[in-house]
Amino acid sequence: MRLKITDIPDEGLTDEFDLPVEVRDGGVSDTAHVVINVKRFGKKVLAEGKVNITVSLNCSRCLKPVPYPIETKFSEEYNPAMDLDKEEEQELTEGELDLSYYSNDELNISELIREQVLLSVPMKPLCSADCHGICLKCGKDLNEGACLCKTEEIDPRLAPLGKFKELMKDRGTA
Ligand SMILES: [Zn+2]
Ligand SMILES: [Zn+2]
Repeated sequence: MRLKITDIPDEGLTDEFDLPVEVRDGGVSDTAHVVINVKRFGKKVLAEGKVNITVSLNCSRCLKPVPYPIETKFSEEYNPAMDLDKEEEQELTEGELDLSYYSNDELNISELIREQVLLSVPMKPLCSADCHGICLKCGKDLNEGACLCKTEEIDPRLAPLGKFKELMKDRGTA
């Protein structure tokens, strides 16, 4: 979804719409409900609004699907990418990093909304704070109970004891 800068009326533009957002590349699209207000100040464009979306994430421990609701407000300032004059470049080096740019007289609304959603997505989502995850050996969901690997595994603290016993046995026969 793109908005032509020249199409923005002097009094600004308010719109409300649903937009598919793909949080992970090649993943499922979730629908964002967007309310946006766009104003133009000369060549500068200010886009403000609100995004509501429930993104489909997977628990970082057990990989179970976790619906994650997000409600976020945004306020982004855009400048034309092509004609940055020296003064603006100066401003940029002074740390105004949250400035965005538009090119070809177009604002990429889809990209703006996707960025806003990504900012609110947790790096390591969890289905619950005490998720036990899955067994790395057999892949069993440990939230459903322990797997067999755990009992088969020798307690590493007891392993030297086994060796010691073997050693004693060897000595005994010698
Ligand atoms: Zn989980
Ligand atoms: Zn296991």
